[in-house]
Amino acid sequence: MNDSHLDAVLLFTSIAEFEARPNFHAELQLTADELDRIIGKYELPANRGSWALCGLNNCHREHRFGYVIRAKDGRETNIGHECGKREFDVEFEEVEARYKRAVDAQARQRAVTALLAERALLVARCEEIQPTMAKQSARYSAFRATFQPVNGFWLNLLKCAKLGGAIRAARQNSAWNPSKGGKEEIVTVGRFAGGAALLEDGSGLGNVITNDVLPWLRALDADRLTALDDAGMTTTLREAAARRGTLERAEAFAAHSSALLTPQNVAAMRAICDHLMKSSDAGHAEALLEKWVAEAQTAGVPEKPVRIHKDR
Ligand SMILES: [Zn+2]
Repeated sequence: MNDSHLDAVLLFTSIAEFEARPNFHAELQLTADELDRIIGKYELPANRGSWALCGLNNCHREHRFGYVIRAKDGRETNIGHECGKREFDVEFEEVEARYKRAVDAQARQRAVTALLAERALLVARCEEIQPTMAKQSARYSAFRATFQPVNGFWLNLLKCAKLGGAIRAARQNSAWNPSKGGKEEIVTVGRFAGGAALLEDGSGLGNVITNDVLPWLRALDADRLTALDDAGMTTTLREAAARRGTLERAEAFAAHSSALLTPQNVAAMRAICDHLMKSSDAGHAEALLEKWVAEAQTAGVPEKPVRIHKDR
């Protein structure tokens, strides 16, 4: 066997593309011994008018999916995707397996090249999100420390976040009467933005970027990477995908958190107290919301938990 898996594998989308190859023959007689390899595959349009005829051993079957194969003497023809197995028996399985390995190797090589080309941009995105994450993490943690202990409020806040920030409650003073049957009418009484930050807490991702993602990206070495074997490349690409995922989640969290933590947005959460909580429990949450909004308006979005001192 030669090292043909190092050659590029081709994808043809029309008959004209492979017919134009210098060693292509519309008809070819070949035994399994003469077969070298698959050089590419094709997928033709769905209408039968653009399908191909098999060129192997007088087969002539019309087909949409097929391979361009090469003989050991360099001649080429095209065959339907089921013809190789029938004409060459088990020997074709090895040829097909070699072709699939070549396809995989080429895909890996391209992904590694793409990763190296993208690295500078990924590093720049990390550096850009770092200060934003530091700020948002502090603000988010402070918000959480302020409101999570107010259990009735926090659980309703999460429930609304799952509804995309819609605060839904039974219509007040409606004509609904349980004794008459029918359903209570539920309406949207308020809405807040950025609830996704509550459902997926990404406040720790800034540290992951600083301590893991950035060092990993900076340590990527083009020479070492292109010299990796198949397994090494697969591992590196998996590691890269995980880091890219971390960066994307950090960017999403920063965007959601900054939409969540504005005076206007937090003020809109007041509707939770008014419509979803018992009035005996709502008072404390309401007072905290008011204080948070007042601090945000005067001193900027709080980066420390907001407290109410009852003895004052
Ligand atoms: Zn055929």
